[in-house]
Amino acid sequence: MTLDETIDASDCPTASGMPMLGLGTWQNTDPAQCAKSVQTALELGYRHVDTAQAYGNEEAVGEGIDRSSVDRESVFLATKIWTENLAPEDVKTTARESLDRLGVEYVDLLYVHWPAGAYDPKTTLPAFESLVDDDVTRRIGVSNFLADQLEAAVDRCDVPIFANQVELHPRLQQPDLRETCERLDVEIVAYSPLARGDVFDEPVLQEIATDRGVSPAQVSLAWLRDAGITAIPKATSEDHIADNWGSLDLELDDATIDRIADVDRGERVVDPDFGPWNQ
Ligand code: NAP
Repeated sequence: MTLDETIDASDCPTASGMPMLGLGTWQNTDPAQCAKSVQTALELGYRHVDTAQAYGNEEAVGEGIDRSSVDRESVFLATKIWTENLAPEDVKTTARESLDRLGVEYVDLLYVHWPAGAYDPKTTLPAFESLVDDDVTRRIGVSNFLADQLEAAVDRCDVPIFANQVELHPRLQQPDLRETCERLDVEIVAYSPLARGDVFDEPVLQEIATDRGVSPAQVSLAWLRDAGITAIPKATSEDHIADNWGSLDLELDDATIDRIADVDRGERVVDPDFGPWNQ
């Protein structure tokens, strides 16, 4: 079986076997609510769930998968190793602790959450590679990596770097980083694809949404999909989870895509001091 065949067919297109629309779970911290959001999403058709050690909800995410009618093997499950845990022994130990909390035998994608803290490409990346050999994860990814950090990681690894998870939405379109990812054959996973709500205030997206009779969230997500980018909007309620799933029915024409190109302001909504662009 190839990686491309591991995920059940659903209405969602895939990129290298990864469903291009997933559920984000940052700040979905109430365990009962988080489990319910994950269960709801899976039963609506989602097959990709994104969590992290730092979100404090891996147990609830696992509970939601377990309670749903969808087999674990049909779900593309991603988690991330926090910056404090990026020394090699900590990578290996805490990845297994994540599996225990999630109640699964493997994850589909394991990310370096940030190139910060104990991250050292010479030692962190070989530890991630060993987790592929040990069947803890099917793929390795990085997150918040700048182009030069990504190039260095790709050069150093024998196992392919599957994805770089970065902030990307109409107000932060990241053209240079996208070009680098394409050249290096690394998928992009867009976090904060709704700019944490800021895209709803964007007049161009509001106009397109009104014209098409859809929500601004759907416009943002359809724009990302059109660009070949996977998106993981966080949504808690069934209404939001379903609204975002509805973006799969929205096709944008070239003129609309051109209008959205002009919305880029290069503005980040996730900008901690330890972000590599602040060093
Ligand atoms: P986001 O997905 O851009 O926005 C989430 C916000 O939008 C929430 O307030 C949510 O409300 C609301 N929302 C969702 N769908 C909506 C809809 N259809 N209509 C109206 N409001 C809607 O922000 P995010 O959580 O920052 O990013 C998404 C995911 O990316 C995270 O959850 C996490 O998994 C990942 N992430 C990763 C990193 C990293 O460093 N790798 C950083 C940030 C985020 P409700 O919750 O009330 O539904």
